[in-house]
Amino acid sequence: MVGGKATCPVEGLSIRTFAEDGVHRFPSKGKRARAVELVIHETVTRSVDSTIAVLKKRGLSVHLVMGADGALTQHGDLATDILWHASQHNGPSFGVEVVNPYYPSYLKLGLPWDRVIKAPWAHKGEYVLPTPAQAEAVAALVRWTTSAPAPGIAVPRVWPGLRDGRFALGLVPAAAKAPLPGVLAHQYFGHADGSMLVLYAWLRLEAGLAPDVAFEEAVKRATGVRRADVRDLLPTPAVA
Ligand SMILES: [Zn+2]
Repeated sequence: MVGGKATCPVEGLSIRTFAEDGVHRFPSKGKRARAVELVIHETVTRSVDSTIAVLKKRGLSVHLVMGADGALTQHGDLATDILWHASQHNGPSFGVEVVNPYYPSYLKLGLPWDRVIKAPWAHKGEYVLPTPAQAEAVAALVRWTTSAPAPGIAVPRVWPGLRDGRFALGLVPAAAKAPLPGVLAHQYFGHADGSMLVLYAWLRLEAGLAPDVAFEEAVKRATGVRRADVRDLLPTPAVA
């Protein structure tokens, strides 16, 4: 739902919206004409339902929640609803919470998440990887969002986390102030979530890697470092 109109289906994405029975709509904290930022989060939960419950309990809210299989539920209008997920970026952004236990201690046998990497950028130094289906759905969401799909969505395909050929896995000074139009990880200005998923989306959409290759490259480039080096994948500048 964008600006009160249904825009489904979206290529590569499965979405159930608040127009359907049983899907919660968070009350909007204000109205705006358009969104210019997409903010990507990870939840530190293990299910969509517990994510909604935690947000309600904390007085927070978000537009989209993504389950382990990459399917989305929509809980607010992407264009016009202002929800509380990104502090100073609430006004210009819509957000997606990708369900991820995040901490290895939250893993249990039988869950869809089972890989952990050493990540100096993650809270407590280790990070549970999202599922490949989630990473691919985030890339599809970024592709759709940045293709000006509907009036009210004006997010440019701009990557504020990328500087000098390296992707931020931490704070981005420019993100201290809003708006910063483009594709943002919450980690650029808040908690340590979302940045590996933004890296994956870039590897898919800008470097043109296939899903399985992009996933392993994202893992490799985000392991044991504080910024992800992608200099070898940048477009070659034209020779004058
Ligand atoms: Zn977050």
